[in-house]
Amino acid sequence: MAGLVSIPKPTLERLPVYYRVLVQCREAGMQYVSSSELGRRSGFDNAQVRKDLNHIWSGGRPGLGYEIDKLTSCLADFLGLHNTTDAALVGAGRLGAALAGYQGFAGYGLNIVAVFDSDPEKIGGTLSERPILSVDKLADIAERLGIRMGIITVPAKAAQAVADTMVSAGVQAIWNFAPVCLQVPKNVLVRNEDLAAGLATLSYHLKELDPLTNAMS
Ligand code: NAD
Repeated sequence: MAGLVSIPKPTLERLPVYYRVLVQCREAGMQYVSSSELGRRSGFDNAQVRKDLNHIWSGGRPGLGYEIDKLTSCLADFLGLHNTTDAALVGAGRLGAALAGYQGFAGYGLNIVAVFDSDPEKIGGTLSERPILSVDKLADIAERLGIRMGIITVPAKAAQAVADTMVSAGVQAIWNFAPVCLQVPKNVLVRNEDLAAGLATLSYHLKELDPLTNAMS
């Protein structure tokens, strides 16, 4: 396994999918999985699977495939999933509540340790058993707890100021759900999530299939 290899971003984005499928295979009692089966379950072709996994693993056994336990562990190591990452979530609204309530993130090493909001009616309440704190305390608490990941689920107009506070407190990775392009220093990684972008590909697909739309264009 190579810990410090630089791998292409699309590969990096597929590795967690393989990890999830491998965990499911292991839970189903399987010991080995072939690249074609892993590809079928992940939605990628087997040549792609082999190419991706070659970046981090050379343990496939001809005729048997990948040993699930070892490959799962190797992927978890590579992706840093064995290290629990403490995160602060800012924006205890509908999306924030959904993220804070999803227990599946724990399997990916994510531990939301603090939740912040600016609404006086929410501050002092709880979100999935975590106290909701005033966003005014974000910098201080994030710094004191050594929090390195921030999750932003505030309205777009508030997101940059929240990101700035996170960065000033030492946050190095931001999972941003607000529809805005955040400006951050080079050493901070922002991952933007946009469900609408995925929806657009489905809408486009349906439009392409629709003979009436096509005839009019
Ligand atoms: P919401 O109104 O339910 O929640 C927003 C929360 O942020 C509220 O609790 C509000 O009090 C709090 N807030 C506002 N300003 C703040 C500030 N300066 N500091 C701290 N807290 C502050 O909204 P929602 O539906 O949960 O959406 C939240 C964000 O996520 C929005 O930006 C929305 O556009 C975005 N969103 C993105 C996706 C996606 O696909 N990425 C999907 C849904 C929503």
